[in-house]
Amino acid sequence: MARTALVTGGSRGIGAAISKALKEAGYDVAATYAGNDEKARAFTDETGIRTFKWDVSDYEACKAGIAEVEEAMGPVEVLVNNAGITRDAPFHRMTPQQWTEVIDTNLSGLFNMTHNVWPGMRERKFGRVISISSINGQKGQFAQANYAAAKAGDIGFTKALAQEGARAGITVNVIAPGYINTEMMSTIPEKVMNEVILPAIPVGRLGEAEEVARCVVFLASEDAGFITGSTLTANGGQYLV
Ligand code: NDP
Repeated sequence: MARTALVTGGSRGIGAAISKALKEAGYDVAATYAGNDEKARAFTDETGIRTFKWDVSDYEACKAGIAEVEEAMGPVEVLVNNAGITRDAPFHRMTPQQWTEVIDTNLSGLFNMTHNVWPGMRERKFGRVISISSINGQKGQFAQANYAAAKAGDIGFTKALAQEGARAGITVNVIAPGYINTEMMSTIPEKVMNEVILPAIPVGRLGEAEEVARCVVFLASEDAGFITGSTLTANGGQYLV
């Protein structure tokens, strides 16, 4: 029987590519989103992948949402924590709201989601938790104290949880993408893209969402059973750790 995979923020951007790649690899996929109903409907029409709406920063919503997915599709055996936002500002102008929104979504979202699938994974002695961090959580980034703190937190979360999951057959890994060609990138001015960002990427181009998706499919597979607690960088050589 096909395993069920749940991808947060799985209806557009990198998450949509992950949802599609997991479906192609034979998983039953549930994709969640926050509020963009139109995009989610179009995604389901295009792919046949079911979408579910809730806010990953809300613990009770995650609990209820996961219960709904499991009722409809069976236990979640692969969780991909992909949902993320940016609220950039130089620190002296960053508001408490910008700080909190990013931490609540990009870091606490991992707790809220993972905590609600963890008991089932422990019971069944199998699970894959794969989270999407960022190069900016590894190296920091101007005007992203909130985002960098959350994304660095995702890596620490992964390393700690990997130790707890190991004996229960659960692997916990994180992917740190560099600059990926998605809507998130469209806010960057062309001059900055051509004169600052692209010259800093040794392979000379942005990454594609499908390239991150293929990393997820590998980490979810039986073949990756000995890999846990690791940070897989996918950044075109931009930052080497
Ligand atoms: P997008 O902005 O294209 O998509 C974000 C997705 O997350 C959407 O489906 C959105 O739902 C969902 N989402 C946002 N907030 C919440 C929330 N509170 N609860 C539930 N779902 C939510 O993002 P990307 O595809 O660009 O990024 C995906 C992940 O990859 C993020 O974690 C990002 O930080 C990370 N990343 C991205 C990079 C890039 O270059 N793009 C580089 C490195 C890391 P809705 O459609 O309803 O808004």
